[in-house]
Amino acid sequence: MTLDPVAALQAALRAPTVNDGSGAETQAFAQLHEALREHFPLLHANLDLTPVGEHGLLFRWPGASAEKPVVLMAHQDVVPIAGVWTHDPFGGEIVDGVIHGRGTLDDKGQLVAICAAVEGLLADGFAPAYDVWLSFGSDEETTGAAARAAVEELRSQGVEPWFVLDEGGAVAFDAFPGVAAPIGVVGVAEKGTTDVRLKVTGDGGHSSTPRQNGPTARLARAITRLDRMSMPVGLPAPTVEMFERIAPYAARPMRPVLANAGRLAPALARLLTRLGPEPAALTRTTVAITTLEGSPAANVIASAASAGVNLRIMVGETVAEVVERLRAAIADKHVEIEVVRAGEPSPISPRDEAFSLVTDTIAAIFPEAVPAPYTVMAATDSRFFYEISDRVYRFAPFRMTAAQRATIHAADENIRVDDYLDGIRFYRRLIESL
Ligand SMILES: [Zn+2]
Repeated sequence: MTLDPVAALQAALRAPTVNDGSGAETQAFAQLHEALREHFPLLHANLDLTPVGEHGLLFRWPGASAEKPVVLMAHQDVVPIAGVWTHDPFGGEIVDGVIHGRGTLDDKGQLVAICAAVEGLLADGFAPAYDVWLSFGSDEETTGAAARAAVEELRSQGVEPWFVLDEGGAVAFDAFPGVAAPIGVVGVAEKGTTDVRLKVTGDGGHSSTPRQNGPTARLARAITRLDRMSMPVGLPAPTVEMFERIAPYAARPMRPVLANAGRLAPALARLLTRLGPEPAALTRTTVAITTLEGSPAANVIASAASAGVNLRIMVGETVAEVVERLRAAIADKHVEIEVVRAGEPSPISPRDEAFSLVTDTIAAIFPEAVPAPYTVMAATDSRFFYEISDRVYRFAPFRMTAAQRATIHAADENIRVDDYLDGIRFYRRLIESL
């Protein structure tokens, strides 16, 4: 079968790999693996495959030298269908040069583009200079267990990657107000995702004889205090560097401000907090109240009330110090704060030779884009790879408009066929340049 990368992506999109633990996902991952085997026979014949975790895949493409191994990552699972879709989310339909479906951008487009680049290079008889590992997690959207298993496997083999490249950034259009050029953002760090639970216990009872300041009222007061609290504001090094790199492309009045982002960091950070929730999230740890639980019945006073709080912790801070800030803001010793899941922010990957290899490849394939480092707001599987590598970068080689970025985890996710094919060219060139 000759390589048809578009048909390969369509086939991958048709496997509904929502990893919700319902049992149905086993069949979906089997379908996806079958599609990959069918479309990428040379890859499967030439690379060594180690299954990791439940449905994770770890491939090794032996290079001329075992030094400086590289890991290319993507994840096979997708989030559930949300909202009303114009096209079948698992249909892989192509309409007017656009491929529609859950996972086109997050993250099957990237997964299949990596495979297509490798398959094409193998067909040309190419062998990489260094070992190229492909690590495809199967539960990125939930636990990341498969990626952790891949890290364990690499560690057990003594593999210390020169660099790791995962999802996260993109060739982002309309990414920054006043900057017309798309920005090729490469994530060099990610915020930490941490869940805590606030819990208040006390007297419950019949709602005909209420008392003041019961668990529900105390919890409500704690929540409003968190809602009003202010976290320290600043600009981490990658953000300063991003501003300096995009400065020449910014609207004229913004240029000197961005070019001097380092010196003006405190003022710039305060300005960003006033430009809306997205720019504000660049500058500080965010606190979001998510779940709430209290009385189960209209005539019962709760003896326990709880709220879930999702924290996105700024690079440079720690879970412990943020929890202490929550405690100080709530200022009520009756409110217990339990850390349900602690996720520290990542270290910051260096901007050295490996980073330049990525940004030079961006410049070659997307000459219209300005490559720049940045901090990823969400969590990716690649965070586990800091255990075995200093250089973890996050970049999906696809053009994404603001409207397309808004479809990730929402309805009508899509990618243009041409943009997908340029993504394959990106990986091809990256592997050739090693
Ligand atoms: Zn993703």
